[in-house]
Amino acid sequence: MLTLIPLPAFEDNYIWVWHDDRHAVAVDPGDAAPLIAYLDAHQLALTAVLITHHHRDHTGGNARLRQRYDCAIYAPDNPRIPDVTHVLSGGDVVDLVKPGLHFEVLATPGHTLDHISYVGHGCLFCGDTVFGCGCGKLFEGNSAMMAASLDAILALPDATRVCCAHEYTLSNIDFAKTIAGDNATLLARERADRALRAQDRPTLPSTLALEKATNPFLRFHEPDMTAFAAAYLNRPHPRPDEVFRAIRAAKDAWDG
Ligand code: ZN
Ligand code: FE
Repeated sequence: MLTLIPLPAFEDNYIWVWHDDRHAVAVDPGDAAPLIAYLDAHQLALTAVLITHHHRDHTGGNARLRQRYDCAIYAPDNPRIPDVTHVLSGGDVVDLVKPGLHFEVLATPGHTLDHISYVGHGCLFCGDTVFGCGCGKLFEGNSAMMAASLDAILALPDATRVCCAHEYTLSNIDFAKTIAGDNATLLARERADRALRAQDRPTLPSTLALEKATNPFLRFHEPDMTAFAAAYLNRPHPRPDEVFRAIRAAKDAWDG
């Protein structure tokens, strides 16, 4: 029996934890403290850490966790990520024994150049590539690169549970409404997710089907987003990656 939970960390991060009641794996433990508290409370031993990219809010717990549990640390090839034991790139697989978990590694550059995502057991751990109704800022990559990463994610099954590294869903919905205010699925999502947050519950995981229907950053092939981009860029027939770039630019301007 495997359990998956999002553990809140910092202001709005989630550390995703899989466990089998004895052994645990954590994705992006930016802070060791809340993870150690959870593992202690449930008498779990941490066997592995999976890292999506080099940002400190995803890797800050590595040193302390490795010291305490002697766990494996899987990560993309980047010297800025501390205490890595297994370097990964797109196309690799991760086979864990305790707990028994199997993941495929997807290269998802854009937010950072090193960004990878993990796919397995019907779940996608996408770090800061996709958020609920949003996507990560382009700190290192360009929009064509991010659009290609999102295309790889769009190719996954609709039922895939989308496990993002931040709780940004409500503010992302506020932005999405400014460019797709007549999307009925988006408005229904807003009601459901506001109710969850009112009870301090996570809006995640969502499903890829829901993201495809409501997340503007996954809808850059759709006619309504293409029309939005044509108006925003003031020229007809933008390419899909240009539609993505227009949505990203509009969101960055909206963020201020
Ligand atoms: Zn990040
Ligand atoms: Fe982050």
